[in-house]
Amino acid sequence: MAATNSRLNPLDLFNVRSELSEEEAMVQDTVARFVDDRAIPKMREAFEQHVFPRELIAEVAELGLLGSSIEGYDCAGLNSICYGLICQELERADSGLRSFVSVQSSLVMYPIHAYGSEEQKQRWLPAMARGEAIGCFGLTEPQGGSDPSNIKTNAKRDGTDWILNGSKMWITNGSVADAAVVWAQTDTGLKGFIVEKDMPGFTAQEIENKFSLRASVTAALFFDDVRVPETSVLPGVTGLKGPLSCLTQARYGITWGVIGAAQACLDEVIRYTSDRILFGRPLSHTQAIQLRLADMSRRITTAQLLSLQLGRIKDRGELNPSQVSLAKWNNCRAALDIARDARDILGASGISAEYVPIRHMLNLESVITYEGTETIHQLVIGKELTGVNAF
Ligand SMILES: Cc1cc2nc3c(=O)[nH]c(=O)nc-3n(C[C@H](O)[C@H](O)[C@H](O)COP(=O)(O)OP(=O)(O)OC[C@H]3O[C@@H](n4cnc5c(N)ncnc54)[C@H](O)[C@@H]3O)c2cc1C
Repeated sequence: MAATNSRLNPLDLFNVRSELSEEEAMVQDTVARFVDDRAIPKMREAFEQHVFPRELIAEVAELGLLGSSIEGYDCAGLNSICYGLICQELERADSGLRSFVSVQSSLVMYPIHAYGSEEQKQRWLPAMARGEAIGCFGLTEPQGGSDPSNIKTNAKRDGTDWILNGSKMWITNGSVADAAVVWAQTDTGLKGFIVEKDMPGFTAQEIENKFSLRASVTAALFFDDVRVPETSVLPGVTGLKGPLSCLTQARYGITWGVIGAAQACLDEVIRYTSDRILFGRPLSHTQAIQLRLADMSRRITTAQLLSLQLGRIKDRGELNPSQVSLAKWNNCRAALDIARDARDILGASGISAEYVPIRHMLNLESVITYEGTETIHQLVIGKELTGVNAF
């Protein structure tokens, strides 16, 4: 935390922390300790090396952070605020670490839990909670992620099996996953298939040379006549509702996660500007810098309050996906603007990975794009307000 004379916590000006239950506060503290002691020291190097630090998976699992909202199946059964706080603390370290947990929890374990057979749940959920099995979520295709109704990957019946053909692009965890939840067209509508890594005809190819989310694995998936048994189809859902409901879960977590990245940037610049002497006084004593810090604080505070209320609504079972869109749009935009401005305030030092803003800034370029771009979320709100679909 930054040194400050203020009686308020500069990273939590409206004391959102005081709104948390004892359990929620305890979850936040536990994850924060792990992030400070274990994750932050590793993530910068992982980003520079363009690798996901797989050694953290067992620790994340041990803390109960995988599938934390699921009850039973060796999962922690925590509420939505806890899930949000987990995302916030993890993304304080790096968006890549939070992405791993988001995908495993919201995009893989959630649909298996919500739409899977009992056999699928028993097989995958405890192993995924323990981090022994890794999952990925294949929705996006090369021809355009914003329009999932145009999915070309398809599955055709062959006796009691299905034959899967097509490809997916930009898939987090894709080349390290033991199982991929793949959304494909069938004669009766879109269905989810659990495709296992060793099924013949299934290949995954890591996407290299990313300048964003370098500490996260991203891959292209290819399906060439992959034979998938009926027992690997998610029986409980047909149509776009399946993947869209998963995205609502993950996007909710992202609204919290990006607050962590923004807090890390503000923390850094508060410290830096009080130490940096220019024109005979600390940079933080100038009006222009104070205005910029104040603006960061305003944006973080707004984002925190949005996510807190969103979580309470979600826990009451009253969540509307367009509310998630508004918060995903607002909070990602806020975090990205804060990271870019923090990078600038650091001057030349801002281009060095020794300081966190440039890494968060580069990561947030992905976070504002995936799980629905900013424009897509704006159009969701436009539709909510006018009743007109303008996509
Ligand atoms: C690091 C990373 C990890 C990812 N992980 C996953 C994953 O695990 N699983 C998965 O399925 N996908 C994943 N994605 C894909 C991501 O969800 C898509 O990139 C995203 O949905 C956008 O799709 P696109 O890249 O094809 O862009 P496009 O859909 O081609 O959009 C291009 C531009 O057009 C704009 N646009 C689109 N429609 C309209 C419109 N109607 N009017 C005006 N403008 C419009 C968009 O806002 C955007 O600016 C990941 C992406 C990244 C970068």
